[in-house]
Amino acid sequence: MKERKISKEEVRAALEQGETIEDYPEDWPFPSQLMLGIVEDRPLHVVAGFDEQTGICYIVTVYDPNPVRVVGGFQGEEMTMKCIMCKHGETERRLVSVLIDQEETPLIIKNVPADVCRNCGERYFDEETTGKLLDLSNSESHESGEVEIIRFAA
Ligand SMILES: [Zn+2]
Repeated sequence: MKERKISKEEVRAALEQGETIEDYPEDWPFPSQLMLGIVEDRPLHVVAGFDEQTGICYIVTVYDPNPVRVVGGFQGEEMTMKCIMCKHGETERRLVSVLIDQEETPLIIKNVPADVCRNCGERYFDEETTGKLLDLSNSESHESGEVEIIRFAA
C-alpha cells in the first residue's frame, strides 16, 4: 500500500464517501465490497471485508484503478491463470465494474467480464474487452463533473 502512496486518510475517505460498485458476498473469510471513492479528484478503489460479528472492517486491497492493462495470451474463455501481480492468487471469471479515469468525467462501466485474482483483486481483461472499453471511453459524451455509469454490452 505504501508504494502506491495512498494515505490512510484517503482510504478512510473512500470508504466513507465512496460508492459500492461491486459486492462479493461469497468472499472468504468475510463478505467484501469494492468501493470507488473519489478523493481529492483522484479515484481510488478499495476492497474491504466486513466482519459483522466484531464490526471490524478489513481493507483487502487499495489501488488506483487501471482498467486498460492488457495481458496477452488468453482468449476470453473461462479459465484460471496465476495472478502476475501478487504471484499467488488464481483468477476467476467475474463481471466487474470498470472505472475509466478520464480527465473530466470518470466513467464507470458495469458488467464487464474480467478475470479477477481471488487473492489481491487485480483484474485482467482480454483484448476484445479492452478494445470495447477503449471504444466506450472514447465514444460516450460526457457532462463534466459527474461520474457517469453505463453497462457493458458483450
Ligand atoms: Zn493477485
